[in-house]
Amino acid sequence: MVDMTRIVIIGGGPGGYEAALVAAQLGADVTVVEREGVGGACVLTDCVPSKTLIATSTRMAVLSESASLGVRFNGGPDGIVGGLEVDLGLVNKRVKDLARAQSFDISERLAYEDVRIVRGEARLTDPHTVTVNDTDLAADVVLIATGATPRVLPGAEPDGERILNWRQLYDLPELPEELIVVGSGVTGAELAGAYLSLGSKVTLVSSRDRILPTEDADAASVLQEVFLRRGMNVLSRSRAAGVRRSGDSVIVTLEDGRKVEGSHCLMTVGMEPNTRGIGLEKAGVQLSRGFVKVDKVSRTTVSNIYAAGDCTGVMMLASVAGMQGRIAMWHALGEAVQPLKLGWVAANIFTDPEVATVGVTQKMIDSGEVNARTVMLPLFSNPRAKMQGFEDGFVKLFCRPSTGIVLGGVIVAPRASELILGLSIAVQQHLTVDQVAHTFAVYPSLSGSITEASRRLMQESAY
Ligand SMILES: Cc1cc2nc3c(=O)[nH]c(=O)nc-3n(C[C@H](O)[C@H](O)[C@H](O)COP(=O)(O)OP(=O)(O)OC[C@H]3O[C@@H](n4cnc5c(N)ncnc54)[C@H](O)[C@@H]3O)c2cc1C
Repeated sequence: MVDMTRIVIIGGGPGGYEAALVAAQLGADVTVVEREGVGGACVLTDCVPSKTLIATSTRMAVLSESASLGVRFNGGPDGIVGGLEVDLGLVNKRVKDLARAQSFDISERLAYEDVRIVRGEARLTDPHTVTVNDTDLAADVVLIATGATPRVLPGAEPDGERILNWRQLYDLPELPEELIVVGSGVTGAELAGAYLSLGSKVTLVSSRDRILPTEDADAASVLQEVFLRRGMNVLSRSRAAGVRRSGDSVIVTLEDGRKVEGSHCLMTVGMEPNTRGIGLEKAGVQLSRGFVKVDKVSRTTVSNIYAAGDCTGVMMLASVAGMQGRIAMWHALGEAVQPLKLGWVAANIFTDPEVATVGVTQKMIDSGEVNARTVMLPLFSNPRAKMQGFEDGFVKLFCRPSTGIVLGGVIVAPRASELILGLSIAVQQHLTVDQVAHTFAVYPSLSGSITEASRRLMQESAY
């Protein structure tokens, strides 16, 4: 009998379970150790629940902005949308049911591939031994995929009732009357926008000049305008110093002494890697600011130990975690492997409208790091957008000046997450704007703005 490679994976999120599936298909003996639930934080508390909630909030936003399309609601004041309200109990039940079902589906899939799932808290005893529930598991290869945890701001500790992190939102019995969201990065912006559309009054506390400070500035401006127009109170250059309860209220104190009062406060101030106390340093695995150091094929500083996902801090996305996990297993099991290319990662911010990006950024172009020509087409010039009543957004495209090779782009539009694939393919396959311009887009369609943007760049390169 041929000896099977014994692989032990710590963490059952996308970094872990995607790796397990690949390793099992390649004939390895695979064990996944998970302390909470298969699917990880991604499925149970973070990505899947937030996107499920956002499905409801987006529907609410679309309905409440349908008057210009001739939609009238019976029974509401002025015949508009007074009758529309959300049942948060039902929404939260749907969120949790869907997360549990997704976790179950992944467990079933792993079981089908003969992956062993062990429930418990794992740690490395040495590079070839993972200990869980006082049992030692021998491993030829170990994958660390332990994810990350919401960062806690000292003086603003969540109590799970009125001061919350995003993992505690789905236990709320009722919609917060006045929600203060501290932190205007992706999670803060997505959830602030969602609760606003669900009907809460929302204040977004941003320590920087604008929301989404690390994202495309044009996209962030569109989002900020939409938020303000819908009635969000955005406090820029306002850093929270502490949050405390006061009866049925919460009071957020800003560093300049101002106070903001609301019914609930949601803290979205980043993540910390789950890398403490699991024997990494003792086994020789180097960390950097708490994150596991990895190379482009997910190797750590110990030859048989790999790492994937949020615990590496490479790019905190489920899609990247899954790819890092798969790459680790392909590499460990001797398969040909393409190192991780961050320039190919398509990412999306699930606000309304959505912001999808791929490839180089406007910042890289503006700083001179990348030489590129750019074009930006506002969504209001797109015929389908006009018909659907969408005005906020744009398609931005970047290409090499001489060859016209597509380098990247930004799409701000409803369901931008579905539109970005065309640009992702163009970037990954080094297509030119001429090639994209000659591709048929459906008329009328939002994706027509991608081919139109390519035509504009193509015309420019002709001169
Ligand atoms: C609110 C929110 C929304 C998001 N939305 C998106 C999105 O739309 N798209 C996207 O691509 N990404 C999204 N992300 C990011 C995405 O959730 C993460 O990048 C992804 O979960 C990372 O996967 P992972 O496998 O590294 O970690 P996780 O999903 O966190 O899984 C790690 C698992 O390891 C387990 N674990 C930890 N330590 C141990 C131990 N010692 N023993 C046993 N088990 C252990 C944990 O219990 C956990 O289940 C979102 C994040 C947040 C916070």
